[in-house]
Amino acid sequence: MIKKIGVLTSGGDAPGMNAVIRGIVITGKQLGIEIFGIKDGFLGLYKNKIKKLKVSKVFDIINKGGTFLGSSRFPQFKKKKKRLIAIKNLQKRNIDALIIIGGDGSYAGAQKLNEMGISCISIPSTIDNDVVGTDYTIGYYTALETIVQSIDKIRDTSASHNRISIVEIMGRNCGDLTLLSSIASGCEFLVIPETKKSKEKLLVEIKKRIKKRKKHFVIAITENLYDIKFLAKYIEKKTNRETRATILGYIQRGGTPVVYDRILASRMAHYAVEILKDGFSGKCIGIKKEKIIHTDIKKSLKNKKKNSTRYWLNLSKKLF
Ligand code: ADP
Repeated sequence: MIKKIGVLTSGGDAPGMNAVIRGIVITGKQLGIEIFGIKDGFLGLYKNKIKKLKVSKVFDIINKGGTFLGSSRFPQFKKKKKRLIAIKNLQKRNIDALIIIGGDGSYAGAQKLNEMGISCISIPSTIDNDVVGTDYTIGYYTALETIVQSIDKIRDTSASHNRISIVEIMGRNCGDLTLLSSIASGCEFLVIPETKKSKEKLLVEIKKRIKKRKKHFVIAITENLYDIKFLAKYIEKKTNRETRATILGYIQRGGTPVVYDRILASRMAHYAVEILKDGFSGKCIGIKKEKIIHTDIKKSLKNKKKNSTRYWLNLSKKLF
């Protein structure tokens, strides 16, 4: 019977992580389980930064971006020696289980701990929506909202000056944020990892669009595909049209979580504590067709995300 659960947020932060922590602490109290907050992800677990979380600590955090527990990248956690120290820190307090909130890197850490005898449940929270086993990750919809609002603003000035604007959007290797934000903000052109092409080919397509459409337009591109400042100069030179590049960057990761993320966070948090209490471990929580589910972390790490990129791409082409 689980009596004490530790919770940590790990990897890239995402709006809604605080709402998850709140849901865990409140559910824990209702079920008579003590909840311990671990600072700064796996680094804090290794450094023994563990403290009991009172319900009063989470009263006012459902609407706050970021994670009040802090997060970190701690690649040394891949070493068994470091994980053994982390496990000792849990054992000193008789903490039987962990809930790990983060992306697939954090899932890998959770799986390793699970194999070493600590019951782990992971909850998908990253803006990138690149985790297997769930239709959506917590933070994704908030990031979409932020991106769309930013592109709306860029479009205003782009129109005033008759410029081409290139917007670089975070998402690691996943184009979901670029695709859906482009549709929602009416971008005239987009490039995601699946549609990457040489700058010469890109130019040919952009020129076609210039001929067909209005004078100004917005191009959305997923990060890590081009040097977009250089690309803007290239397009400006070849089209003789003023072109500006904007990198949205970390602005996408902050801000008040939107309602969808708060609800998703609360549902997943509640479910995670309940299944730990029921004796499950090594599971990751997901949402599929609006239902909260769990699958094996191991399976989620092995599989590739089946996404609906083709559908969104087709739709985006039809809507330009
Ligand atoms: P995210 O969870 O957002 O994908 P990372 O990929 O940076 O972010 O992973 C978060 C953390 O998870 C890493 O900094 C590290 O501490 C831990 N981690 C990642 N991969 C492993 C692994 N193979 N074994 C143990 N811990 C890992």
